[in-house]
Amino acid sequence: MKKLLLTMLFFGGWAMADKQNISIVIHGGAGTIQRDQLSTEQEQAIKSDLQKALDAGYEVLAKGGDSTQAIISAIKIMEDSPHFNAGKGAVYTKPGKHELDASIMRGNDLQAGAVAGVSYTKNPILAAEQVMLNSPHVMLAGSGADTFSKLKGLEQVENNYFDTEARHKAWQEVDARTKAKDKEQASVDDVLAAEFKFGTVGAVAIDQNGNIAAGTSTGGMTYKAWGRIGDSPVIGAGTYADNRSCGISATGHGEYFIRYAVAHDICARVRYQDKSLQQAADEVIMQELKSGGGAGGVIGMDPAGTPMMVFNTPGMYRGYKTQEESIVAIYGDE
Ligand code: ASP
Repeated sequence: MKKLLLTMLFFGGWAMADKQNISIVIHGGAGTIQRDQLSTEQEQAIKSDLQKALDAGYEVLAKGGDSTQAIISAIKIMEDSPHFNAGKGAVYTKPGKHELDASIMRGNDLQAGAVAGVSYTKNPILAAEQVMLNSPHVMLAGSGADTFSKLKGLEQVENNYFDTEARHKAWQEVDARTKAKDKEQASVDDVLAAEFKFGTVGAVAIDQNGNIAAGTSTGGMTYKAWGRIGDSPVIGAGTYADNRSCGISATGHGEYFIRYAVAHDICARVRYQDKSLQQAADEVIMQELKSGGGAGGVIGMDPAGTPMMVFNTPGMYRGYKTQEESIVAIYGDE
């Protein structure tokens, strides 16, 4: 009997030690997020929505669900919240409309899906998932992407569903500055001044089978030109997942993230140079990207279930939940 108990303890302990750590990490955008810009109420509302997103994603993992469904639950909550630049609360394009981008990737088989410039799909992350699961393509854009999502039965809304007062004010500020300068196109600085306060949303998770998934969703950048597409729907730039290295979701000035292939570069350093995820992300975000003038941040997950959050801006809405701890934060010094 004693022998049997010892055997059970040994194998039980072994099985537990071998069990994959489930974990999820999220972001709600990076930028010039400073204490004097947010009221206590705003701060609490944002943190509460971050927490809801984390809890929803973690619950999927805790129940044995897969990482793809976990990140979708988390991202959907942030898309439905007016506090983030994704879904409801998306920024305005130069003509005063909303065009949304999203992508998703699975680390076990490198399957991916993305939509760019959708105008009527309520939850772009669900459309990205449909592209991955039920189309032979990786990225669909514009009206074709909306038509596809409608055909797949996803909820459609009027474009003004995405309106919020705060984003409209940001649009008006850039519009006024641009017109005052009598320029056809707002300068990058004009756009960044308004935009670089809040951003995009994203999530990366690892499930009990050790599968990593990453996803990102955004309204893009305030006053973006017609049809402008940022890094968020671009696999390898704003989103990447590979069980052999890591999963990444990015937020920041998309043009830089595309040119520096940020998400893939981080995973490549982990895979080919045997670096830790933290080191790889520090190198790409704090050195490469920063010295090139690119502002933003990333979240990520390694195959052991260790979350990573790195940004070269004053703040990033962010949080993670592991078996040991759960945190949400906004500013760089917390
Ligand atoms: N990366 C997004 C874009 O360039 C914006 C953001 O993250 O805030 O579209």
